[in-house]
Amino acid sequence: MDLFEHQAKELFAEYGVPVPQGNVARTPEEARAIAEGFAAAGHPRVVVKAQVKTGGRGKAGGVKVAEGPDEAQSRARDILGMDIKGHTVHAVLVERASDIAQEFYLSYLLDRAARNFLSICSVEGGMEIEEVARDHPEAVAQIPIDPLTGVDMALATQIVTAGHLPARAIEGAATLAERLWAVFTDEDATLVEVNPLILTTDGRVVALDGKVTLDDNAAFRQEHARFADPGSADPLEARARAKHLNYVKLDGEVGIIGNGAGLVMSTLDVVAQAGAEFGGIRPANFLDIGGGASAEVMANGLEIVLSDPSVRSVLVNVFGGITSCDAVANGIVTAVGMLEERGEKVTRPLVVRLDGNNADEGRRILREAGLTVVEQVATMDDAARRAAELAAAANLAQPVTGA
Ligand code: GDP
Ligand code: MN
Repeated sequence: MDLFEHQAKELFAEYGVPVPQGNVARTPEEARAIAEGFAAAGHPRVVVKAQVKTGGRGKAGGVKVAEGPDEAQSRARDILGMDIKGHTVHAVLVERASDIAQEFYLSYLLDRAARNFLSICSVEGGMEIEEVARDHPEAVAQIPIDPLTGVDMALATQIVTAGHLPARAIEGAATLAERLWAVFTDEDATLVEVNPLILTTDGRVVALDGKVTLDDNAAFRQEHARFADPGSADPLEARARAKHLNYVKLDGEVGIIGNGAGLVMSTLDVVAQAGAEFGGIRPANFLDIGGGASAEVMANGLEIVLSDPSVRSVLVNVFGGITSCDAVANGIVTAVGMLEERGEKVTRPLVVRLDGNNADEGRRILREAGLTVVEQVATMDDAARRAAELAAAANLAQPVTGA
């Protein structure tokens, strides 16, 4: 789960990582009231920041300085409701503005390729670190962290020194880096990123931005439910979760249903590969119906996948193991019937590939059921190709707007 900037900063503050003072507003009037509080304390300058879970808000016009409550209100009016890379702004963070002397970069992340933790630090902050790494690789320090020993003050000093931070920022940045490590490990994060980390004109080091990704696998031992944001989840994903389905929405045209995460992931790959030949047809989702794959689960899965208007064809790719193919075939037949009973006539083509335990019997059941929308293909590659071809043909007949 990714956190909003204001949530990341709340966590930072709990761990003693310095952040600017601020509060969240959902209306321009609330933004004004927060700015009035700062003005009354002698700090009329504030920053109004879009709260969306994507980077580059500054460039998109979602971060604006305001000189006092009037301006804070109008900046908030501009920013609330804005669309930033497909994310609608429902809230802004109104912060006391910082006087910036210099912007740096600091992060900890899980380096999956190296099976280790990694710290990244650079004197060049504020822009995307990928750009800095490309244009000024010498300015970016990458230091692996031994999970058993972690980051103490000595290593923190080494990290910020390697990032070429200036002498007067070293002590403050090292202190911050040590505390940020506590956030990273104690909260079971896979990423904590501070970009920019700033040196203020009065010599303090402060986290001006915060990006945190929490490891959902550790949710059971954390109190992260308070950060959940049902409003921003994809509506189809939310419906799928309510039905205990493992579904992830993607932006292609071929709906995918399979059993087992590994099989479904490789199905996404072969569909993307086959789809390239048909003008860039891509998978529309990930859906793993798991081991059981009862008719009910298949019906729920089909219903979710077919509720996605960009789906042009569906590929059902099942390898019979514990669940044998005859059960899956019966599941598909019953599912189509159940959907029609629910008033959702299935018209988009279903390409079905059954293999493994009792495949012959499964194929026979499907064949004899005589469902016009179902087409069986023997191999995974051919099935992916056929599904992509059908999606492309449907696209030609009736293009998806905006696609
Ligand atoms: P991002 O664009 O989504 O990464 O949003 P950031 O929170 O990193 O803000 C973008 C940029 O806005 C920063 O790099 C700063 O240059 C600027 N900025 C943000 N807050 C302040 C502030 O309090 N004072 C000043 N002067 N600039 C700020
Ligand atoms: Mn930033």
